[in-house]
Amino acid sequence: MPRWRRTTRSSPAGSAGERGTHVTRTVSQEAPAPEIAEEDWQRAVEAVRATPSDAEVLLACHVNPDGDALGSMLGTALGLRRLGFTRLRASFPGQTDLPEPFLSLPGLDLLVPEPDAPADPPLVLSFDAASIERLGGLGAQLKAAEASVVLDHHASSTRFGSINLVDPGAAATSVVADELLTRLGVVLDAEIAECLYVALATDTGSFRFSSTTPDVHRLAARLIATGIPIGEVSRRLFDTRPYGAVKLFGEVLCRATLEPAEAGGLGLAWTYATLADLERYDQRPHVLEALIDSVRCVAEADVACLVKQVRPTEWSVSLRSKGGVDVSRVAVALGGGGHRNAAGFTAHGTVGDVVAAVRAQLPGARISTVT
Ligand code: 5GP
Ligand code: MN
Repeated sequence: MPRWRRTTRSSPAGSAGERGTHVTRTVSQEAPAPEIAEEDWQRAVEAVRATPSDAEVLLACHVNPDGDALGSMLGTALGLRRLGFTRLRASFPGQTDLPEPFLSLPGLDLLVPEPDAPADPPLVLSFDAASIERLGGLGAQLKAAEASVVLDHHASSTRFGSINLVDPGAAATSVVADELLTRLGVVLDAEIAECLYVALATDTGSFRFSSTTPDVHRLAARLIATGIPIGEVSRRLFDTRPYGAVKLFGEVLCRATLEPAEAGGLGLAWTYATLADLERYDQRPHVLEALIDSVRCVAEADVACLVKQVRPTEWSVSLRSKGGVDVSRVAVALGGGGHRNAAGFTAHGTVGDVVAAVRAQLPGARISTVT
């Protein structure tokens, strides 16, 4: 057999680390998730239309927000502003300092820290949060609101709103947000489009994951047509990081471990970053978010795992799969959640404990392959 011909399992080209639910050549035991019902769209549109334009409206996204959470939330907030809403507030729980790539997003003037969010808004919209816990204290406002609209694309969504716009087939929450804005009659402008584009580009891994359908490209085309500075936005999002972070990445990747026998022979690649690492290079925790992309490059492993220290004995764990393992099952079993190919959870103990817990869940999370 020539050396260049793979004789073992192969993964679909270009599918590394994707979050999408469409995986070719493999099947899961789950039934396909239903799309959003027409009735739910109508109820969401009516809930917005029934809210007086001078009423308080709270838009909330998940703790430690990523591009999709922030972009879909701020894009929708700007859309509601165009419709005449005057008392809009956007918020997320926990630390308020945003990662640099998001510091020039349009609509940031609507963002307030969690304690400053309106206490009793009649309408609350939630973005990219699979469960109410991901909204921290803002979940209280959502529960008390006359209407709460959950916009999301997590298959694991607990559908905690009074109206749930949850489409696990959507590449990003911003796909759902765009549809809602269209149905509300909002005309896209460059500011709204930049927010939605950042969300879409983030969650599709810059249009590389298999969740990148023709409709995703059609939406991207509509967004780009508004005149957003696409080169600048992409550079800011994907190709900019402080010198110290580059050095830090080098060190953390140097200690990456490959365990080819794990996940029933599909392989696990993992590494970890500590608070001391961050301190040594004078970096903030969010710079580590892109690091999992370098771990999941490892050709010999289907599963990538990055263990990030957030407190002395607390770790935030990122998991990625190339399609052989449903990492959301691993994450859910360990108290977290996510998508089939990208998931995460919070863990306690030592790095060794955390990786051992992941290893133990991998065999049960394998996806059966059709041949
Ligand atoms: P990341 O590794 O980029 O932080 O997260 C990947 C995905 O895993 C996210 O889109 C999110 O859906 C999910 N995720 C990450 N951390 C957690 C967590 O602590 N709890 C839950 N429920 N989901 C998480
Ligand atoms: Mn998302």
